[in-house]
Amino acid sequence: MPEIQFDRFYRYDDLTRLVHAFAEEHPNLMRVESIGKSHEGRDIWVVTVTNVATGEANEKPALWVDGNIHATEVSPSSACLYLLNTLANGYGNDDDITRCLDTRAFYVCPRVNPDGAEWALADAPKFIRSSTRAYPYDEEHVHGLLTEDIDGDGRVLAMRIPDPNGAWKICPEEPRLLVRREPDETGGAYYRVLPEGQLRDFDGVEITIQPPKEGLDLNRNFPALWRQEHEQHGAGAYPASEPEVRALVHFIAEHRNITGGVAFHTFAGVLLRPFSHQSDENFAAEDLWTYQKIGAKGTELSGYPNISVFHDFKYHPKSVITGALDDWMVAHLGVFAWTVEIWSPQREAGITDYKYIDWFREHPLEDDLKLLKWSDEALDGKGYIDWYTFEHPQLGPVELGGWNEFYAFSNPPSRYLERELAKFPRWLVWHLLISPRLELFEASATRVGDGAYRVRLAVQNSGWLPTYVMKSALDNKLVRGVVCEIELPEGASLASGHTRQVLGQVEGRAYKPSSPFGWDVGDPTTDRASTEWVVRAPEGGVVKLIARHDRAGVVRVEVPLS
Ligand SMILES: [Zn+2]
Repeated sequence: MPEIQFDRFYRYDDLTRLVHAFAEEHPNLMRVESIGKSHEGRDIWVVTVTNVATGEANEKPALWVDGNIHATEVSPSSACLYLLNTLANGYGNDDDITRCLDTRAFYVCPRVNPDGAEWALADAPKFIRSSTRAYPYDEEHVHGLLTEDIDGDGRVLAMRIPDPNGAWKICPEEPRLLVRREPDETGGAYYRVLPEGQLRDFDGVEITIQPPKEGLDLNRNFPALWRQEHEQHGAGAYPASEPEVRALVHFIAEHRNITGGVAFHTFAGVLLRPFSHQSDENFAAEDLWTYQKIGAKGTELSGYPNISVFHDFKYHPKSVITGALDDWMVAHLGVFAWTVEIWSPQREAGITDYKYIDWFREHPLEDDLKLLKWSDEALDGKGYIDWYTFEHPQLGPVELGGWNEFYAFSNPPSRYLERELAKFPRWLVWHLLISPRLELFEASATRVGDGAYRVRLAVQNSGWLPTYVMKSALDNKLVRGVVCEIELPEGASLASGHTRQVLGQVEGRAYKPSSPFGWDVGDPTTDRASTEWVVRAPEGGVVKLIARHDRAGVVRVEVPLS
């Protein structure tokens, strides 16, 4: 096993060493490749995990898993490494993992955005949304507040400045906290609260918060429903304009055996599913039912609720996001994809029933008190920092303090990291095990006359999902049926049938009703498909048959003519 710890985050060189160590130590299970280079030229690694003795990964149904497309969301990289470690340890010891890797494959991309992560993990960190490429303009801001660590303690906190028109005041119940001033309140001591940072060209009056010069959001750059800058910030100049996104889009689109995807992000402690831009009513009914069942299993195994982005995770009630990886995978590939937001500080603090994004706009003081208590007790006070004075180069004396968001919110603190990462591998293995899988039902050759044989090939889908995976994939003609081919021995010819015959899709068990009575009666063999050829051949030859489906794998069989 590579030397790996799950109470810390790894910078790029160490992460590179680890993924190669996995591949070197498990040559029968893991292979690492670069699928492209980041803006700054770092390789984007993908680890393919399957038992190669039972077939190549591209001939098996697969699940895509990635992390860290957003720069500061580094625990998602750890979630991918944790999955790799679980698979390596579990193969041969755990029945589900063994069966999963014998019959199926994972593609794991632990760090989609190595450049941005490198900034977040630097000794003097710089926190941006995504890529380090300047966007939309390649020039420095000349005025405004640049968010950064100004006192050199490795943290980026908040700055409070006394201001008679400030919106905040010291909380009467807990003087370390700030609370909003009442709508009609005057005459107290009030504060303005800014991010920790330097001011450029300050005129003594106006303070604007500079957006980072690196304004891209790589998870808005995917091709489905991509929108321009005036409609959605950070989406890039055109769909998949960014090298990191292009690498993913190319790899995923080229691997037609991918039946689902999970992109790890932080934070919220929730399993998010499409659509991001429209109501659940727009799903094919079967797709929504299936999405909900996969989500329910995820909730059972991880403890995280599963919700629709459109219905329960909007940044503003009137705005939607588009161009995210999971929406692209649903729209253009017709496979089930998820965004897993790791970690919920609120839940850790005992705030159980809250709305993930709305909570930041409006929540009771009681919640702040719970979070502060949690920081004091569980984090040894390292989450919420009491205010301390600092001589600001432009503003004079200010106070720094408040939440160390990168430490407590953006990712699980080190002591909780492994516990949190351990919530996901079970569900990912289950998600892959439900994929369609072609298996041989019957292959035979029957003599039907002098020198003629009827050759029959029948396959079945032993998976839970239908071979097409999502109904929308079928409706949008994104996936073709089972392809059967016959290879004849020397001196043989086909009397009927073509060497390649395309059959239809094969159903799984996903849509079976909860008990075998009622409206939807009968249990026909929609999980099987078969085809026939008549072959003229001298006795003693062997025909080679192959059945393959882009999403459900490959069956090969040889049948003697006797
Ligand atoms: Zn994210």
